Amino acid sequence: MKEKINRRQLLKNGFGVAAGLSLNKMILAEEVIKTSVNNEKPFEWLYESKMASWWFTIEDIGWPDYEVEKKWLRRAKAFKKAGVNCVVTFGFHFRWDFVPLLDRLIAMLAKVVEICHDNGIRVVEHHSAALVFRPKTIEDRWEIRKKNNHGVSFYPDSWEDVYYKGSEMAKWRHVRASTGKQPHFSTSYENFCPNNPDLQKAYEDMIKRYLEKVRFDALMSDDLDFSPDYDVCVCEHCKEKFYQATSSTLPNWEDKNFWGNKKNPLFLKWIDLRYQWSAQHYERVRNFLPDNIALWGCASDCLTPWLVTVGFSAQRSFKHCDAVFREVYHKIQPDNKIGILAESAAFSSMAKQMNKPFITIFYVKNSEDKKAWFDIISESGSRPWVSKHVRVENAVEEEVILKDGYDFIDRTKEINSKPVVGVRFSQKYRDSLEKEAASKYHRKYIELFTKLRKQGYRVEVVFDEYVGLADTKSFKQYYDLKEYQG
Ligand SMILES: [Zn+2]
Repeated sequence: MKEKINRRQLLKNGFGVAAGLSLNKMILAEEVIKTSVNNEKPFEWLYESKMASWWFTIEDIGWPDYEVEKKWLRRAKAFKKAGVNCVVTFGFHFRWDFVPLLDRLIAMLAKVVEICHDNGIRVVEHHSAALVFRPKTIEDRWEIRKKNNHGVSFYPDSWEDVYYKGSEMAKWRHVRASTGKQPHFSTSYENFCPNNPDLQKAYEDMIKRYLEKVRFDALMSDDLDFSPDYDVCVCEHCKEKFYQATSSTLPNWEDKNFWGNKKNPLFLKWIDLRYQWSAQHYERVRNFLPDNIALWGCASDCLTPWLVTVGFSAQRSFKHCDAVFREVYHKIQPDNKIGILAESAAFSSMAKQMNKPFITIFYVKNSEDKKAWFDIISESGSRPWVSKHVRVENAVEEEVILKDGYDFIDRTKEINSKPVVGVRFSQKYRDSLEKEAASKYHRKYIELFTKLRKQGYRVEVVFDEYVGLADTKSFKQYYDLKEYQG
């Protein structure tokens, strides 16, 4: 335990130093980070992982049940035969919606973990720690059916009487500056604010309830962000934290000298603070999670200007996690090979610089696509997580996709032996730009990546917080994207 705290503390301090202190001190801190981070691989098994989704459906709530249990046993055997050595739970995703059934869910999960462990398969417990469904009309419910049929559609009718151990969950929600109300967006989502101390307390309590009964191997905790836009969140806790960080009161929405004004350093600070606040979720969870359980979160990208709207930075959050994780958005399929590889190179760079495993989920339409996916994922230097597709009716199941075996080839050594070109990508700079200029900055990266890959280089992206962690001396060339003209 002590050793681990030191490692994390050093990493944390190292990042802090790199952000502000003198060069000498910075170099010293960088050396400490390198030795303290790079010599440890606390979750060796992740480097060998061959993952698949383990879907729960509405019938699983009926457990204890003979047929349900037989289904789980059949699936575990099929996965074992295919070569899957780790499954990630999926289905009861918006976990706060299941609070009235939580003990039943925990007991069910414990049984699944037991079955999987008996078959040599590790289990990652995966859920949203912030999102809930609150449809208001029958049309909203149809929308959930159309777009989220891969998940179990279970949600309370309203916010009335929704409590977690006496804490009124409705009060955990984000508040928008533009409306003064809670955001209610895409497919009837509402979400909780990571700065709300009652949510923080309840989440810790909930995970500890799991841990008493379920021996899962890793936790994937999703969605602590500030969707859907930069005017989220202005709840009393966010206002207070903003004041603590800036000694300024958060301006009202009418103040257009602040809101949306990229020339105002205080607004840029607001943007930066939201990234910090979502990252603090992972810092808190890592602190209370037992040492032998790995932690990671979810990010579909880490480069696009869109990220400023949701206030989530993989760069910031994943430094508190034990793995770097990427979700290839379900609409992106192997025909967009370069697009996938360009974005993944940035994730893979973070993983390499922090000496953490890199994991990618991708949504496979059918078994014929498996090879193309495995080729891309292995070129990106990632461990694979095979999942069925999520927006089609009767999607082909993982057991069918993998029926001929999990023939993933790890090409990490070959890829790491390629000459490296570094690309300095600044999130801070990107976020200071207006929309079109920020998009252009991102496009320049894709162009440069495409060119360098064609020339046989491995591209290593260096983000603001990772300057001290990258082995820049090994770079054949080092581009600052800001200066690059194409
Ligand atoms: Zn808030």
